[in-house]
Amino acid sequence: MSHTGTTVVIGTSVAGVRTAQALRTEGYDGRVVLVGAEHEPPYDKPPLSKQFLAGTWEGSRLTLLAPAEAADSGIELRLGAAARRLDPAGHRVHLADGSELAYDTCVIATGAAARPSPWPAESGVHVLRSLADGAALRADLVRGGPVVVVGGGFVGAEVAATARALGCEVTVVDPLPVPMGRLLGPEVGAHFADLHRRHGVASRFGSGVEGVTGRSGRLRVTLTDGTVLPAATVVVGIGAVPNDRWLAGSGLLVDDGVVCDAYCRAVDAPDVYAAGDVARWYHPGRGTHLRVEHWTNAAEQAARVAHNIAHPDDPRPYAPVPYVWSDQYDWKIQIAGTPVGATRHTVIGGLAGATARGGALYTDDTGRLRAAVTVNWPRAQAVCRRLLTTHTPFATAVDQVKALASRGAAGP
Ligand SMILES: Cc1cc2nc3c(=O)[nH]c(=O)nc-3n(C[C@H](O)[C@H](O)[C@H](O)COP(=O)(O)OP(=O)(O)OC[C@H]3O[C@@H](n4cnc5c(N)ncnc54)[C@H](O)[C@@H]3O)c2cc1C
Repeated sequence: MSHTGTTVVIGTSVAGVRTAQALRTEGYDGRVVLVGAEHEPPYDKPPLSKQFLAGTWEGSRLTLLAPAEAADSGIELRLGAAARRLDPAGHRVHLADGSELAYDTCVIATGAAARPSPWPAESGVHVLRSLADGAALRADLVRGGPVVVVGGGFVGAEVAATARALGCEVTVVDPLPVPMGRLLGPEVGAHFADLHRRHGVASRFGSGVEGVTGRSGRLRVTLTDGTVLPAATVVVGIGAVPNDRWLAGSGLLVDDGVVCDAYCRAVDAPDVYAAGDVARWYHPGRGTHLRVEHWTNAAEQAARVAHNIAHPDDPRPYAPVPYVWSDQYDWKIQIAGTPVGATRHTVIGGLAGATARGGALYTDDTGRLRAAVTVNWPRAQAVCRRLLTTHTPFATAVDQVKALASRGAAGP
């Protein structure tokens, strides 16, 4: 099929870059323009809390698409050009520099931003979402602790682990009784609390933050129970919000992300698609709209959007099994499916101590496998991902993973 139009992709991280690249591999031969607010060449986010923060990777190693590579693939890069307004009726994107781009198809891949700290301080209080955030945080961490991390979710826990590895004294604060308890349940969450403890990270689970005062090097974090923690640096990891405010006035339905159909098309503009953290699409397998803030979803959704644009005669719905990994201390954590909403779980193998290698399998009222959390056990994770796609009964899944463990196959 020959394509004569222009596709404008807005957002230059994994969802945007993968959409542009996949358009080419799908045989799309129209014009592709990739527009990004930041000036840096497109870069990846997961290493920001891991290798980049630890100083083991230079920023250049995070590059997703070098300008020369873009040119080779016929992808026009417009960096430092934030989209300010979308005009779906006129098929135009208005950019911050006053210029505008006409499109036949538009892909919104503007991702999410870190939820800002509600406790403004003069300096030394960080969030972590961009390369600039990562560089600023690293500069403070190498000066030494103590460090207070607010939020025991994925990003907070990874920052705590990296700061500890850099030799800082670290305290994690979270109002939940155990980290990630809302996602994984209290029993599995307790193992994550132990993981921090084992690595010499103090925790204040069950306490919120009342306020932060002072400046970099001399901060004071007051908790809801009245405790005051001194800190050189504070990191606030309390979630992300979709970058969808620029779409106000476009007429698109925006409700905590761009609302899309099962083909990832905006519900009220069939030539506008969304992919990645900013997309809230109808998941046909779940019968509901979902917005997922994980890397694998951004990459897989981008590939599906590119297919649907390149092959309008063969549109395919997008119905993935959600997947996320996280590296915390000596744990490689992998989660497939959606543990939230589960009614029961079974732990197989061990989730305790330095030699942890095991998993928790979750089910709900359907009696099928709903989710699997594994620690240092990629083989079990791969089996569970397959069983999730085939809607396997929970008992069968438990038997299969137990058999894997008893065969001594708990190795990678
Ligand atoms: C520190 C950190 C660690 C992570 N670790 C993991 C992990 O271990 N595993 C995992 O699965 N996920 C991880 N994630 C999540 C994962 O990185 C995200 O799900 C993924 O980056 C989403 O990609 P995206 O392209 O949809 O959005 P984003 O990465 O948010 O990128 C959006 C891009 O759009 C640009 N943009 C925004 N607004 C505009 C505009 N108006 N005009 C033009 N451009 C705009 C932004 O500048 C940005 O470049 C991590 C995230 C962070 C921040």
